[in-house]
Parts: sequence; C-alpha cells; structure tokens
Amino acid sequence: MSETAYMTHNDQLYRYLFDHYQVRGELVRLSDSYRQILSSQDYPAPVQRLLGELLVATSLLTATLKFEGHITVQLQGDGPVKLAVINGDHRQQLRGVARWEGQVPNSDKLAELVGKGYLAITITPDEGERYQGIIELDADSLAASLENYFAQSEQLNTRIWLFTELTAAQPTAAGMLLQALPNGDTDENQDFEHLQALTQTIKAEELLRLDAQDVLYRLYNQETVRVFEPQPVSFKCTCSREKSENALLQLGHAEALELLREQGQIKMHCDYCGNSYRFDNTDLQQIFNDSTTLH
Ligand SMILES: [Zn+2]
Repeated sequence: MSETAYMTHNDQLYRYLFDHYQVRGELVRLSDSYRQILSSQDYPAPVQRLLGELLVATSLLTATLKFEGHITVQLQGDGPVKLAVINGDHRQQLRGVARWEGQVPNSDKLAELVGKGYLAITITPDEGERYQGIIELDADSLAASLENYFAQSEQLNTRIWLFTELTAAQPTAAGMLLQALPNGDTDENQDFEHLQALTQTIKAEELLRLDAQDVLYRLYNQETVRVFEPQPVSFKCTCSREKSENALLQLGHAEALELLREQGQIKMHCDYCGNSYRFDNTDLQQIFNDSTTLH
C-alpha cells in the first residue's frame, strides 16, 4: 500500500450506498472549516463542541438535498446558549455562529446548554418554495433531536452520530448519517436495523482519526458498499460589500445619512465571519447615485 492510503482526508464528505439494502450513508470529518467557524469569536468550550456537532450535522443534511439550495439548522432556547446556527449549501460551503450569555456549564447535554427551546431546519431551494420544520428540543443530544425531526417530518428511518474533539493543534468534528431511502421494499426496517447495528459500533476516536475508507471497511466489511467520489467541504461566508450596499439601499438615503451623522461612518458587521464593511459619506453618495441612474 502506498503512503497516501493512510492519509486522513479532512473536510471531505463521503456518500455511500449498499448493494443489497435501500439505505444510504454519509460520513464527514471537518477540521479547517471547523477551525474557521470557531475563529470568529472566543467561544466557551461547550459552545465550541455544540457548534462542531451542528456543523457536521448541517454538512450531512445538506448532502441529502436533491436540488441546489441551502439548509439552515438552528438551535434556539432559554438556556445559557441562546442561539447556535449553521448554514450550508449544496456546494458544501458552510458558515455559522452562536450566541451565549453568562456562564456556560461544561456539559454536552442540550437541555443544560440550550434549555427549553427548539430545533429549526430551513430548506431553501435556489428555485422553489422555502420549507421550514420545527421541533421542540426534548432529547439530550443534537443527534437524537435530528433523528426525531426526521421521524416526524420525513417519516424516514434516520440515525446520526456526531463527535467532536478540541485539541490545541486543531479542533475536529466528525459524523455519520444512515437513512432509509424513500420507497424502500418491505424489508426496509429489518435492513435498516441490521446496518444501524453495524454502524453503532463506531467509536469517536475511530471516526475522528481513521481514514474514511478504513472506517467503512471496519464497519461494513461483510457488505458491498459503493462509495462515491468525496465532496470537499469548506467554510465560506456569503456576506459581501455588495450585499451590505443593498441593505443600505433598502434602508433608504435619508435613514443612511442619519446613521452616518450619528456614527461618523456606517459599519456593518457580519456575525458569521467577523467581517466588517464600512461606508463613509463618499461611499453613500456613490451607492445612492448609482442606484438612481439604474432606475
Ligand atoms: Zn460574513
């Protein structure tokens, strides 16, 4: 075997199918994209772990899209973590942010972090209707909450495994998804149970460190698995100076000038990536002149 066979492939999403079962699988491990999402703020460790789980979950969910578009997975509640949200699209470009207040308990339990709250999944196709599903948070983990969501809203047998590891060198988050394909045959439940039992034996350290091919072999060596070409996953914020200009246009010239008078310059901050877009009087004149010549 060549040396590259032992290389770990982070920030790649693997999709796989089984020859004899109507079940699909996905596996992803993220480090660069995870590190970049964490770099925008000084998050407490439990919030970092929660964001890692949410990031992996959104990557896995985005990969189930049958069309071009994006998914937002959002946790909101009355606990110390007020909000945690990740947005990702069919190109596997992801961004996210969390807000918290006061002391965050060193816990992995959703109830202790987010408190009483809900999980909202918003699917926005590039073309077509937006769809939102919301469920109350009554499970201990994000993975279990997502499984409940799929059982309730899609009636699809789904299992999700999420793991994170925060080290000084690099944070890593990894996960797997197993889902019954719609229109599976009558043995669907039995098939799903069988594959779930196999997948359930995965250990955090295996998924966080082993090469994807090795993980799949270790879990499914008795099965015939078809693994598709992996898709790269990256951090990318969709904010831009142009979008900020459009927001100012929507605000209107008079309001924008008022803001400028109050603050000296208009600073628009993106929570997702920490970027700031600044506008002075000359910028405003240009933005509003350009818009009048356009119309
Ligand atoms: Zn941004």
